[in-house]
Amino acid sequence: MLLYIHVPFCRRRCRYCAFASLPLEGAAGHREISAYLATLLGEMTLWGERLGRARVETLFFGGGTPSLLPPEALAGILERARSVFALEAAAEITLEANPESALAPGWLYGLRKTGVNRLSLGVQSLEDDVLRMLGRAHSAREAAQACDLARDAGIANLSLDFMWGLPGQGSGQSQMQWLRQLRQAVALQPDHISAYGLTLEEGTPLAEACADGRLTLPLEREQASQYLAGADFLESQGFMQYEISNFARMGFACRHNLGYWEGREYLGLGPSATSTLAGRRWTNPADPAAWRKAVRSGSPDAGAEELDLPTRLRELLLLRLRLNKGLRLQEWKALTGRSFLKDYASLIFPLQQNGLAATRRGAFRLTRSGMLVSDTILAHFFARLK
Ligand code: SF4
Repeated sequence: MLLYIHVPFCRRRCRYCAFASLPLEGAAGHREISAYLATLLGEMTLWGERLGRARVETLFFGGGTPSLLPPEALAGILERARSVFALEAAAEITLEANPESALAPGWLYGLRKTGVNRLSLGVQSLEDDVLRMLGRAHSAREAAQACDLARDAGIANLSLDFMWGLPGQGSGQSQMQWLRQLRQAVALQPDHISAYGLTLEEGTPLAEACADGRLTLPLEREQASQYLAGADFLESQGFMQYEISNFARMGFACRHNLGYWEGREYLGLGPSATSTLAGRRWTNPADPAAWRKAVRSGSPDAGAEELDLPTRLRELLLLRLRLNKGLRLQEWKALTGRSFLKDYASLIFPLQQNGLAATRRGAFRLTRSGMLVSDTILAHFFARLK
């Protein structure tokens, strides 16, 4: 099983972000954290008992900003996880961090001692004017320092997040600027790079600035060339693409996220975390008070939905076609009793003819050009889902 722990706090809201995160300020912030930790530990114990010390292969602290938690709090969470679940000795334990909070004196050393063995740093850009435009709290220099400090602290598995397709004044980010970012990213010697295309979320300050013309997004064809050229560059530097937005040196693909895309079972703890276990799915309330009430009730999964066959098929397509290795034809056959290639012959043929998809070694996959337009391709598959 994969275990996800959602940490809902952020120091402040980034200008492109629409996540439900809680601002942390002063004494009220400390009280929020204490209440969060107490409920989280209770939720973990509840599930440990209900699932009979289930085996946990990967644990992921995501957010929000998990790096706002002090190492002692993270150590306490991991101690509870080890006592109520069978956390594997070789478990991948990831924590998402923002560079500025990772620079707090002793934080990274403390983190390493807790057993966290993979750090995912939200760098996003190594240009200060871009970081300001995105409303990030760190500078390019701080991001580079956080990488160095993480290595000094003994973090052997380091991932960096970057964003492409960014807006700018006059015109948006160019391919040249994006490749310059990636060159600087590679110079920091990470093991893994996530490269996300910006999605403008309605109601965010960045979306408003683009809507009223203060900022301009790169043209669609410019964005496409950024994606393709960026992926080529990363592969030329030894970072193999394994998912639409993820690239890793050999042996450093994120086991936790791969688990989601491969359809493994996962338990999510914390406000707004989703779980999928034994064919059932539920999502915790995002509101902390409602989440605490749900945990206190002893049945946070009371509103779970059963995953029916159409939903499972939809997810099979949605998740496997994100991956370079694609959808195993056998997996489709096992669920439906039918042949995927026959079911979708009229769609697959033109996709393959146009270099957007390929069938190889018993799997159907999107090519890199296909991944670029995966939303449109998936919509065609979904429309024909039988
Ligand atoms: S740190 Fe992450 S979750 Fe928090 S506001 Fe920024 S992008 Fe959103």
